[in-house]
Amino acid sequence: METIYTLEWMKQVARQARSENRLVGLVPTMGALHGGHFSLIRAAQQQCAPVITSIFVNPKQFAAHEDLDKYPRQLEADRAALEGMRVDYLFAPTAKEMYPDGFRTYVTVEGLSERLEGKSRPGHFRGVTTVVLKLFEIVQPHFAFFGRKDAQQAHIIRRMAQDLNLDTAVVVCPIVREADGLALSSRNAYLNPAERQAATVLHRALGAARQEIAMGERDALRLMGVMRKVLDAEPLAATDYVEIVDTENFEPITRLRRGCLVLLGVFVGKTRLLDNMLVEEKNGEFLVSL
Ligand code: AMP
Repeated sequence: METIYTLEWMKQVARQARSENRLVGLVPTMGALHGGHFSLIRAAQQQCAPVITSIFVNPKQFAAHEDLDKYPRQLEADRAALEGMRVDYLFAPTAKEMYPDGFRTYVTVEGLSERLEGKSRPGHFRGVTTVVLKLFEIVQPHFAFFGRKDAQQAHIIRRMAQDLNLDTAVVVCPIVREADGLALSSRNAYLNPAERQAATVLHRALGAARQEIAMGERDALRLMGVMRKVLDAEPLAATDYVEIVDTENFEPITRLRRGCLVLLGVFVGKTRLLDNMLVEEKNGEFLVSL
């Protein structure tokens, strides 16, 4: 595996691969790699060669009060893990190269970026879309892989790619979980033992909704009520939002329909955790993917 630090060299390597008619795959990450990231890499390796994994803790997507300084950084361990997976390139640009003095240009997916996660984290998605567009320009991947764990982010990036006629197909992969249901996340490292136990409440709330759906419940408000009850019973958790939205446009819905996402944003102690489940209708039946 080659580690690339400069934008110019990354562009050249990726351009060369494209000119050889190879399918270039990109897996953007902020490092502190875990099984969720690895699943994206494996999905990329099934479709693409070369696979490029980027590690960049993007300062533009952290608000002033957020955890930029203490966000976990472990480049050497990450590099060894990627090497073990036979990733072709690790792209690890510096903030100075990505955002040189005088940087002024941002891209925003309007309307979507201000809701749900965006409401609690102003400017977050503007930072995400800006860095992802830059990565897409530098690497020009045929495919880019994202996790459904961050469902709103994946949706916003897909919208951006469509709206700006980008040549990159956005692939969204399933959520990887711990044995007790907690979705893997670099931020789980912030949880103390009591919080780690309490953090299963997100999965438990989704599970309660899944059970109601299996018993025939279709009313979104009632399903949200069931989840809130589970979340409210956990003293270390503070719910930010519980919503059920249409997968096509992320608008809230009142009754389950063809494709919807049940979304949770919850603080456990000071750590913000996300989780969601996908509900799809097939032949009159509602199938739930956690
Ligand atoms: P991050 O490093 O947290 O920015 O995440 C990089 C990518 O990995 C994003 O597309 C995330 O959605 C994805 N990801 C993070 N956690 C998981 C998980 N538990 N399962 C699947 N994908 C994940």
